[in-house]
Amino acid sequence: MLLFFDFTIQTMKLKKTKAKLLFEQVEILEAAAEGNSIAKVDDMVVFVPFVVPGDVVDLEVYRKKKNFAQAKAIKFHKYSSLRVEPMCEHFTRCGGCKWQTMDYQSQVFYKQKQVKDNLERIAHLDCSNMLPILPSENQKEYRNKLEYTFSTKSWKEVYDKTVEDQGAFGFHVPGFFDKVLEIEYCGLQKSPSNEIRNHLREYCRNRQLPFYDIRNHQGLMRNLIIRTSTTGDLMVVVVFAMQSEEIIPLLEEIKIEFPQITSLMYCVNEKFNDTLGDQDIMLYSGKDHIEEVMTTFDGEGQLRFKIRPKTFYQTNSAQAERLYHQAAEFAGITKDDIVYDLYTGCGTIANYVATMAKKVVGVEYVEDAVEDARLNSEFNNINNTVFYAGDMAKILTEDFIKENGKPDVIIIDPPRAGMAESVINQILETQARKIVYISCNPAPQARDLMLLTTKYEIGRIRPVDMFPHTHHVENIVELILK
Ligand code: SAH
Repeated sequence: MLLFFDFTIQTMKLKKTKAKLLFEQVEILEAAAEGNSIAKVDDMVVFVPFVVPGDVVDLEVYRKKKNFAQAKAIKFHKYSSLRVEPMCEHFTRCGGCKWQTMDYQSQVFYKQKQVKDNLERIAHLDCSNMLPILPSENQKEYRNKLEYTFSTKSWKEVYDKTVEDQGAFGFHVPGFFDKVLEIEYCGLQKSPSNEIRNHLREYCRNRQLPFYDIRNHQGLMRNLIIRTSTTGDLMVVVVFAMQSEEIIPLLEEIKIEFPQITSLMYCVNEKFNDTLGDQDIMLYSGKDHIEEVMTTFDGEGQLRFKIRPKTFYQTNSAQAERLYHQAAEFAGITKDDIVYDLYTGCGTIANYVATMAKKVVGVEYVEDAVEDARLNSEFNNINNTVFYAGDMAKILTEDFIKENGKPDVIIIDPPRAGMAESVINQILETQARKIVYISCNPAPQARDLMLLTTKYEIGRIRPVDMFPHTHHVENIVELILK
């Protein structure tokens, strides 16, 4: 079992200028936010990455503030009984899956605790009715989308300056905007995700196709996006940094090597940043979309979703279905209800609840997403949805509510930062019978709930694990008009 990490390599890199602050034989107490765990030394909270509650370690402090410090474990005296073998060799170097050495039961325990702590501490809510967290059935290969980056700068523990950097193709390393960790195997997406990435890397190295250098804006190979679906569709988007006669032979190679690809696409992104929202994505072969399916709330039908290269779709498809099912159950929608789905993305929730309601009104910032939402209503023969594109604070006005009808139920799924206060006030004005608040960030959710509970009482609460091995947690709260 790979329990012994070579932390000496990492500590060699620390600056040796100051005497280091060391804490010996410290017990790790619990898992905290951002994937760190917590220890306490004389009332000072110490945040430590890549350790598990129950470990006893020596800590080396690399940042100290008045009430807290950040430290690295440099020696293990005892290994926690919650430890398991990490699923990949890139653990501690790659930015993702920081909890992969903790057993899954403990992961979901600490996620639930994180939600409860936030709601109790920030919003002073009574969480005694909190339902047990919905765990993810798949703990491996649960992601339907991964994005890889090419870079001339590779991330390695020990730099041998006499050897030329060959560059890397893999994941960005947190804290370094230009450095990429080369990935051999990632357990987050099903096959042939690893095979495609590794094959493309070897092809590029053999043909000496230059990896992108973000500082100097040079090179050809920029990104690779792989999207899978439960229907077996497979989308591959190769992003180049400039036009080149190498593009077609490369795409042809991938097409022949991986005949299971159903949408092979490419993009020439000549901008200084990697975002593709404003770029043209070209179809090289296959369909211009992949298809995802979802069982309807009553379990009897199926919804189908067209996912185009820029379409947002929840990254854990199986768990998205369970999240929506739980949210719809909390919402208790009837055939006479007008439902607002605020922050609707590409309208997946709106379309999911449409058959239960009289009418669903979706609001979303991104115009392309709204177009996807309309397309997906059409694709499923749903004709009681209407979607609007724009900033929530500007769209959700009294006139808007008059025009679209007063909502009986409001479902909200805002971005990580939560909602603007003006939006919350407008929601409170509607006096909707029920609000269901889905959030991917418990602290802003708790803050928003403080305002919402002036008129609503908290019903059921249920955290959902969408991202095993990470500290991320989704939470659904039912609010009932007082
Ligand atoms: N409910 C969707 C996901 C929503 S993610 C689903 O399950 O698929 C949050 C969405 O809020 C994003 O699509 C984002 O574009 C949108 N958004 C963020 N800020 C917004 C704003 N100020 N006004 C409207 N929409 C916004």
